[in-house]
Amino acid sequence: MQKVIIIRYAEIHLKGNNRGWFEKVFAVNIEKSLKGLKHELRRQSGRYLVENFNEADTQTILGRLKKVFGVHSYSLALKVNSNIDEIAEASKKVCSAYGTFKVETHRADKTFPLNSMQLSAEIGGRLLDANSNIKVDVHNPDFIVSIDLRENGTALVFNENLKGAGGMPVGTSGTGMLLISGGIDSPVAGHMIAKRGMNINCIHFHSYPYTNLQAREKVIELTKRLSEYTCGTNLNIVSVTRIQEEIHKNCNPDYMVTLLRRFMMRIAEKVAITSGAQCLITGESLAQVASQTVEGMTSSNSVVEKLPVLRPLCGFDKDEIIERSRAIGTYEISIEPYEDCCTVFLPKHPVTRPKLCAVLAEESKLDVSKLVDEAVTGLESLKL
Ligand code: ATP
Ligand code: MG
Repeated sequence: MQKVIIIRYAEIHLKGNNRGWFEKVFAVNIEKSLKGLKHELRRQSGRYLVENFNEADTQTILGRLKKVFGVHSYSLALKVNSNIDEIAEASKKVCSAYGTFKVETHRADKTFPLNSMQLSAEIGGRLLDANSNIKVDVHNPDFIVSIDLRENGTALVFNENLKGAGGMPVGTSGTGMLLISGGIDSPVAGHMIAKRGMNINCIHFHSYPYTNLQAREKVIELTKRLSEYTCGTNLNIVSVTRIQEEIHKNCNPDYMVTLLRRFMMRIAEKVAITSGAQCLITGESLAQVASQTVEGMTSSNSVVEKLPVLRPLCGFDKDEIIERSRAIGTYEISIEPYEDCCTVFLPKHPVTRPKLCAVLAEESKLDVSKLVDEAVTGLESLKL
């Protein structure tokens, strides 16, 4: 009797001729997530099986698989030879101690002497004999003992279907550049887009020494957490200190955030294109704060020349974003109280609905392309 993990995928099955490619990327991502843990990954009848792992690593493996996009559901199962006694022993082991149950058999091996109904009834009878605290309820059972008779003379027996991360394998939808702050929203935005199969690289802007080194560490931690879902990521760190000082010195202070946003987008697009990313991703949510009005987005969007800007959180309320942030494990890091560069030189009355012509008038007081080039030149890149 051997412990194995069954991994099921759903949306990949809908793909046509290129399904094999999706499956390959999926398998590579599973392997990456299990790196450092002894195991074998095998494809079997439109699913994957993780086998030959150390029993002590079981929970670690299940925890890592929970973060692999493309996994629809997964189950810890017992693998036995396809004979009734071994199947019954395995069924007793996976069976819960109390409650109502039914047995479901999937019989790919058509040579097995009993049909699905007969085997379910036989195993159900043996489970009842072994434990007087359980009862059969075929309509609304508390748990299901599943038996999967494979063609190769083995059977998989399990009780639980754990919900996977869903989505598509990371790497099947191109690469995006996430503008990551230290806040709650941007990591959630990155996670949502990664879930649809996109590789995520990150860019973070800081205003050291106005912002401190702990703020930087926090973003590194957030990016690492995100990279558990994205099979690794690059973090580009760029200083906008000089840009903010120049805005502060030369422009109407109320335009600080609006102008800074435009610089961020310009720099992010440049770095994205050089590194092969095909879109920008932000954590903006419509009407959340003063700078996230449609006019604010028009202003920051209008400097992005070639790439689309994805804003997956646009339609979410803050509490919905927080809920996701907790679920993906970034919330506790995001709420550490270190300042973002947007809070440096923060105006008392930031413009909320900036008119593009007024923005351009303020911006004309700066040497934009020189400032952008300087910032890009000072870029630091970390592999996480
Ligand atoms: P977040 O929680 O992601 O910080 P927020 O609600 O604080 O978002 P803003 O500060 O207005 O909103 O930022 C909007 C978006 O702009 C962020 O989600 C992020 O994508 C980008 N952004 C803001 N500050 C930075 C930064 N320092 N570096 C990189 N991107 C940033
Ligand atoms: Mg922020």
